[in-house]
Amino acid sequence: MAKQEDLFRDVVSHAKEYGFIFPSSEIYDGLSAVYDYGQNGAELKNNIKQYWWKAMVQLNENIVGIDSSILMHPTTWKASGHIDAFNDPLIDNKDSKKRFRADVLIEDFAAKLEDKAQKEIEKAAKRFGEAFDKAQFESTNQKVIDYRQRQKTILERMAKSLENNDLADVKALIEELEIADPDTGSKNWTDVRQFNLMFGTKLGASAENAMELFLRPETAQGIFVNFLNVQKTSRHRLPFGIAQIGKAFRNEIVARQFIFRMREFEQMEMQYFVPPGTELQHYEEWKQKRLNWHLALGLGAENYRFHDHEKLAHYANAAADIEFKFPFGFKELEGIHSRTDFDLGAHEKHSGRKLQFFDPERNESYVPFVVETSVGLDRLFLAIFSNALKQEKLDDGSERTVLSLPPALAPVKAAILPLVKKDGLPEFAEKIFNDLKFDFNVISEEKDSIGKRYRRQDAIGTPFCITVDHESLSDSSVTLRERDTMKQERVSASELRRIIDEKVNMRSLLEKI
Ligand code: ATP
Repeated sequence: MAKQEDLFRDVVSHAKEYGFIFPSSEIYDGLSAVYDYGQNGAELKNNIKQYWWKAMVQLNENIVGIDSSILMHPTTWKASGHIDAFNDPLIDNKDSKKRFRADVLIEDFAAKLEDKAQKEIEKAAKRFGEAFDKAQFESTNQKVIDYRQRQKTILERMAKSLENNDLADVKALIEELEIADPDTGSKNWTDVRQFNLMFGTKLGASAENAMELFLRPETAQGIFVNFLNVQKTSRHRLPFGIAQIGKAFRNEIVARQFIFRMREFEQMEMQYFVPPGTELQHYEEWKQKRLNWHLALGLGAENYRFHDHEKLAHYANAAADIEFKFPFGFKELEGIHSRTDFDLGAHEKHSGRKLQFFDPERNESYVPFVVETSVGLDRLFLAIFSNALKQEKLDDGSERTVLSLPPALAPVKAAILPLVKKDGLPEFAEKIFNDLKFDFNVISEEKDSIGKRYRRQDAIGTPFCITVDHESLSDSSVTLRERDTMKQERVSASELRRIIDEKVNMRSLLEKI
């Protein structure tokens, strides 16, 4: 089996070679942690957005979608707490001169303890075979208990130190655990410092009068400040939600994992406004709903897990991540937060405007509580893309690279391939193209042998190839090849739309949620 790093390297190079993701401004040697989506990447990304938008806005009667601006009045960020508290603890290694997030170094150390516990469990499972009782083993095996207890102690101490802004203790913890720079092994660390992640910019023509602005570090605040506008014009009562997809910007300290951690990225967020006191029940419901949404993609339930937060952000009374098993291990894919009435309350205070809802059942006005679901579109792209990329050995001994994307998300739904470039086959192919193009993103390709063309389509995840040959001219039949099974069948050209639609329709995904 390929090593994890090799797998990740393959993902990055495949994404570039097949027009999914390019480094930004590459002719100038790129810009660190900023990427561009190419022709296939843009399609895949749009399809992921559509899957999310439809699941949120279309399937839920009480959720509406908006599109707010990236630039916002600067007081927004004072109220939200981002100016004072949107910091990451940063530490430098004096020998390698590399910069790290201190919390991530500690979390990675703790994760290794969990890996060790898992190894013990796997070993025992092998030893005991069918008689193995995992729950019992986990609660009685001393080694597993010790690993987990140690992990808990470390994470709790870190959470407490960060909460109290005791950065000296964060450093002390790194030293006590003997954490080394993962690349060089050096343990020669600087002190830990806080670093604000917001990008600043200016509005206005002259330097003296310019207003200091920030590029939004999350899309959520655009929803909060519009809460009353949307509530009044949509006439929704609580509970109701506002969804949004948009760019966010963070000056990340460490950004070495391709599109996992970018400085410009896209979020898909939904704020669910609920009566006070009901938020934790809605929070639990949304945790499950969001997990189900991910599971419907079919990437494998074993690749997901919840991680409940030890350290709660300043605005939350409960928070969890949905983690995904990326090629570099389990990492956060989506956050689900019970944000209390913090944001709306803070905007009320800073703006002097009431942001309340009159609840006819309770016969009172109040600031709603909020449950947020927030998923990174680019991280989702990486999860889907890396999970889909496979090297397969075929029966004839040859190999193929296939991108087994969920068909509804595939950039191109079908490729129409005339066997030769003459005898009227291209014209027949064009007729099919002109019929299918109104329903699906299809392409037509004439160059290279049919085998090569199949391989190219496999590599970008196209669910169907339609081959037009001489027989097609006499009986209007074509060969339809399916990506995953590589099975070929003869079908009538008039059936293509129905067959393709059955497989690639977004409805097939949405119905599984
Ligand atoms: P992390 O702990 O990984 O920095 P976070 O907890 O700061 O993430 P949130 O503020 O909860 O992230 O943002 C919600 C979602 O936005 C995350 O779950 C993630 O999918 C995505 N996201 C956050 N930061 C980035 C980034 N720099 N690049 C790409 N996606 C990101």
